[in-house]
Amino acid sequence: MSTHTHSQSLAGRVAVVTGASSGIGEASAEHLAALGAKVAVLARRAEKLDDLVARIEKDGGTALALTADVTDTAAVHAAADRLRSELGGADLLFNNAGVMLPAPIEELRTDQWQHQIDLNITGLMNVVGAFTPQLVESAGKRGVADLINTASIAAQNIFPNFAVYSGTKAYVTHFSRTLRTELGPKNVRVAAIEPGIVGTELQNHVTDPGAREWLDGSKDTMEWLTPQDIAETIGFIATLPPRVNLQQVTIMPTGQPS
Ligand code: NDP
Repeated sequence: MSTHTHSQSLAGRVAVVTGASSGIGEASAEHLAALGAKVAVLARRAEKLDDLVARIEKDGGTALALTADVTDTAAVHAAADRLRSELGGADLLFNNAGVMLPAPIEELRTDQWQHQIDLNITGLMNVVGAFTPQLVESAGKRGVADLINTASIAAQNIFPNFAVYSGTKAYVTHFSRTLRTELGPKNVRVAAIEPGIVGTELQNHVTDPGAREWLDGSKDTMEWLTPQDIAETIGFIATLPPRVNLQQVTIMPTGQPS
């Protein structure tokens, strides 16, 4: 019990994590639960969510599976209503579902452009719309709430063939920075986390051969971050004293230059 991650530092808090069926979201949901939060886990794959809920409950935690597609506004609002009635409303939102599909723009993969925009921007906004009232209400009662959005270093750095993904993540970072000025005075801390490469299912969805080669090659020159590294950072952000708001956190593999 020597660090800020000692058990139960999030006791009494209610978290919702999107993109919780794999990768960063899954690890973060488990970690927030281990810190004592009740955790609602949201994604499309019900079976994966049920397994996660079972693991959290086996470890003595409380979890709720919310099967929903974040691009479906009505489904996200229904999930928020369920969270409110079953767990009493969220005071921590980790808005994390996303997809990365790099490709040269001249290939005109308009299906992939649209998928990234729909999920990384519209989906993120559906979740903001559904849960912000709960965050503001909880912050009014408890003195603090957290809205943490997953951006990427792609929001800041330049990667050829990543123009659409990078555009969606620049949206997330700038949206977060600006929203902070509205919600901060209401005790809701808004943060954007910008990771470099993390080993998850994200890379499996990449279809572009050049991007796949670049990703595979990078494994030889650096050790990728793990989902647990991000999970612990989310826990750190949410356990800081209420006056402290980490606005943007860039987390890189030590060996990744940019
Ligand atoms: P994963 O592919 O492992 O996780 C993505 C999650 O999003 C899954 O749980 C998936 O679940 C969920 N998801 C996908 N589509 C939808 C949808 N329509 N509705 C609801 N949930 C959905 O990748 P990561 O964990 O790596 O990605 C998490 C976030 O981190 C993303 O925003 C990504 O852009 C960002 N990021 C990742 C980096 C990396 O190197 N891995 C680096 C920087 C940022 P399901 O399929 O069950 O719906």
